[in-house]
Amino acid sequence: MSRQQTHRPLAVLAGAGPGDPGLISAAAMDWIAQADTVLYDRLANPSLLARCRSDAELIYVGKGPGAHAMTQDQINELLVRKTAEGKLVVRLKGGDPLIFGRGGEEADALVDAGLPFRIVPGITAAIAAGACAGIPLTDRRLASTVTFITGHEDPGKDESSINYDALAGLDTLVFYMGVGNLPAIAERLISAGRPAETPIALVQNATLSTQRTVVATLAAAAETAKTNNVRPPALLIVGKVVTLHDKLAWKEKLPLFGQTVLVTRTRRQASKLTEQLVACGANVIECPTIEITPPDDFAGLDEALGQLESFDWLVLTSPNGVHGLLTRMRQLGLDGRNLAKVRIAAVGPATADLLEEHFLQADLIPDTFTGEALGKALATKVRKGGKVLLARSEIATKELPEILHAAGAEVTEAVAYRTTRPDSLPAAAIDALTDGKVDWVTFTSSSTAENFLALVEGADIDVKALKLASIGPVTAKALLAASLTPTVQATQHTIPGLVEAIANWKEHPRT
Ligand code: SAH
Repeated sequence: MSRQQTHRPLAVLAGAGPGDPGLISAAAMDWIAQADTVLYDRLANPSLLARCRSDAELIYVGKGPGAHAMTQDQINELLVRKTAEGKLVVRLKGGDPLIFGRGGEEADALVDAGLPFRIVPGITAAIAAGACAGIPLTDRRLASTVTFITGHEDPGKDESSINYDALAGLDTLVFYMGVGNLPAIAERLISAGRPAETPIALVQNATLSTQRTVVATLAAAAETAKTNNVRPPALLIVGKVVTLHDKLAWKEKLPLFGQTVLVTRTRRQASKLTEQLVACGANVIECPTIEITPPDDFAGLDEALGQLESFDWLVLTSPNGVHGLLTRMRQLGLDGRNLAKVRIAAVGPATADLLEEHFLQADLIPDTFTGEALGKALATKVRKGGKVLLARSEIATKELPEILHAAGAEVTEAVAYRTTRPDSLPAAAIDALTDGKVDWVTFTSSSTAENFLALVEGADIDVKALKLASIGPVTAKALLAASLTPTVQATQHTIPGLVEAIANWKEHPRT
């Protein structure tokens, strides 16, 4: 249940934060989840909208530099009209709605129309850039004041509302929307008495994996921005606190900072890998190359499930196997009690963890998380003629059943799920690949590798230029079969192992 009780009509002016979707407030997120209508901005991270109700109406009212999709009057009018229709309207604005966000004017329009509203603050870009670039906007040693200024206003115009003479004497200055006017801003500050050698920083795409900080002096600001091709959204930070950046920068020093990584797992399974890569600073593009579907034919699985008590061991080689098996058991009216007698072997911790979530403890997990190691470990436990049920995908390798056969076990193979290939890769992934913007592609199974290669075939993509990360030997084999050598292979054949292998690569590059 949500924390907020809604009384429609209601308009909520909510701050979306500076870009990283994790930096929105819990309150704003609650409103988004309840909204009938969301009016959103260019700077609000689109992934936040994934939390909307499926029937919510989403309207883009963004304004880019030079490209106004809607005028402010039109936005005000739309906000008032949608709210007056009796809806819960969330007006989602980048950063904080009232800091250079024209939220004041929108609230004004709502008051004039006699409509109720709330304002939910957001982390404004300056605060976020300070934190993520390691530039404390105030610091006992260097700055006791900080001032937020719009750089959008042409400082050359006759009646500037910005008092540059006053600004010249203040400690930290943060200019929003200042990239275009940088030469004029720097000039005005210097002629108002700010020393030309005052340190400045330009922080672009603060909080995102594409964040960039460029440091210069006030005198060199415009030139440095130009040579470094600094683009909006960016902030100009002026003052002695900028000198702290060198020592306090942390985000830009993360092991995968600036690296774009493709995650080829299914959407449902991608999140853990994505989260861990993002935590290492990577820019992640989810690019599912497999889809998990129920088997075409349940006959084999159903037969096995009908005589579960006759098996000594149930063997699960992936979380998909666990999911497929338990889903079918539920459909057949079976539950955990039907597994009371059978012992369970799991290939690794992710499979065991999913079992655990269903109150089932794995009796055996091998030391190395491969099918082969699982087979060998189980071979030492299973008695001659012992009955083993393998619940896997229809394309699983023969290695595991062969090891068990050789050990004298009677093996029943049942298809618990099917791995299929989607028709195409998402457009974002294709674009990044063709533009040469992808650094790493991660493979968590041989089917992800085989399908990825099949899906990029014929496209103008230089696969040899990509760094390929394999979770283990079987996956690596699928790459080698296509004459591709994995750049790294996880030592521990798990998701954390895979992330570690990629993160460590930089420190020990192969020559
Ligand atoms: N209401 C917003 C500001 C909107 S004005 C807020 O509170 O943050 C738009 C300007 O904000 C941009 O031109 C840029 O100067 C700044 N900005 C917004 N997001 C930013 C980001 N992630 N990194 C750097 N600057 C950003």
